[in-house]
Amino acid sequence: MAESFPMNGGNGVYSYTKNSLLQRNVADNAKLMVREAIIENLDIQTKTFVIVDMGCSVGPNTFFAMQNVVQAIKHKYHSTCSQIEFHVFFNDHVTNDFNVLFESLFSDHQKTYFAAAIPGSFYGRLFPSRSIHVAYSCYALQWLSRVPKGLIDKKNKGRIHYDGASIDVWNAYVDQFEKDMEVFLSARANEMVHGGLIVLVLPSIPSEQHSKIGYRIFTFVESSLIDMVNEGIVEESLVDSFNLPLYFPSDEDMTKVVEKNGCFSIEKLEITCLQCNIDAKSFIIHIRAGFEGIFTKHFGSKITYEIFERTLGKIEEIEAWLETEYYKTTRQLFMVLKCKKLIL
Ligand code: SAH
Repeated sequence: MAESFPMNGGNGVYSYTKNSLLQRNVADNAKLMVREAIIENLDIQTKTFVIVDMGCSVGPNTFFAMQNVVQAIKHKYHSTCSQIEFHVFFNDHVTNDFNVLFESLFSDHQKTYFAAAIPGSFYGRLFPSRSIHVAYSCYALQWLSRVPKGLIDKKNKGRIHYDGASIDVWNAYVDQFEKDMEVFLSARANEMVHGGLIVLVLPSIPSEQHSKIGYRIFTFVESSLIDMVNEGIVEESLVDSFNLPLYFPSDEDMTKVVEKNGCFSIEKLEITCLQCNIDAKSFIIHIRAGFEGIFTKHFGSKITYEIFERTLGKIEEIEAWLETEYYKTTRQLFMVLKCKKLIL
C-alpha cells in the first residue's frame, strides 16, 4: 500500500485550503491548455461523462479545475448532445480531509455535476474497467508512492532529498519514479475507456539541471534540521533516515515511461514557466501546509514546529532565491495522453 502524506486539512492558518495559491496559479495558467486539449482530443460518444481528479486535496483548486473540464466538454458537445450529464470523482488518499472538501463543494458555484469521493492511492486501481473518460491530476504525481528503496540504510546522509545529493541517490529516485509511473499508467489503462484522456500538470525540472539545482526550498528546510542536529536538539540518525518521496520529472522522463508502458499516445507535451509571485513568508507557509504531515510523522510535532519556525528565519535568503532562481528555473509540465490500448 502506498504511504500517505496528505496536505494539512481543516480551515486553520496552516491549512491547505488557505495556503494553496501557488497551486491555484499553476492550474489557472494551465486552464486554457486543458480546455483546448479536451476540445481537440476528446472524441467519445456518451451521455454521461465520468471524470476524476487524482490527488484533489481539500479544495478549492480542485473545484475550479473540475468546472473547467466540465465546461470544456459541454462546449465540445453542445451542438450534438444537449443532455450530457457529468459524474466527477474526487480522489485522494483515505487520510485526506474529505469533510472539508465536500462542505465547500458547490458553495461558490452551481451544481453542474454529480460528485463522489474515491479514496485510495492512484498508484493502484481505483475504478472498474472501462469506466473513466477524463482523468485529471494537478501537482500530485510528483509524490512518489514511497521513499525510494535504495535510500534505506541511511544512504543519503545529512540530506532529505536528491537535491545536491550523489548520483546514486538521484538514480534511486528515478528508479522509484519509473516503477510508480508504470503502476499508475497500467491502472489507468484498465480503468479508462478507449479514447479517454489523461490530463497532467506537474512541477518539472529539466534533466540537465538535476545535478545542479533540484527544488532548493528543501535545502533551506534541511539546513534548519542540520542546525538543530548541531545544537543537539535532533538526533543525526533521525535526519539520515528521512527522505522526501518527491520527484520532479523532466519531459524526457515522462516520455520514457509513457512509451515503455505503451497504452497511451502522447497528444500534447508542453513545458511552461511558472507565472506566480508570492512572497517568501507565504511560500514557506505553503510548504508547511503541504509537508507538515510527513515531517510530523517522522520527527514529531514539536521538532516539526521548530523546523518551520527556523526556516521562517531564513526569509531573506529564501526571498533572494525566489527572485533569482525559483521563478526563472521552475517549470510546469503539461501532458495529455490518449488511451489507445486497453488492458483487459
Ligand atoms: N490537485 C490539488 C492538490 C495538490 S496537492 C491542487 O492542485 O491544489 C497533492 C495532493 O496529491 C495531496 O492532497 C496528496 O494527498 C495527493 N496525493 C499524493 N500522492 C497520492 C496518491 N498516491 N494517491 C492519491 N493522492 C495522492
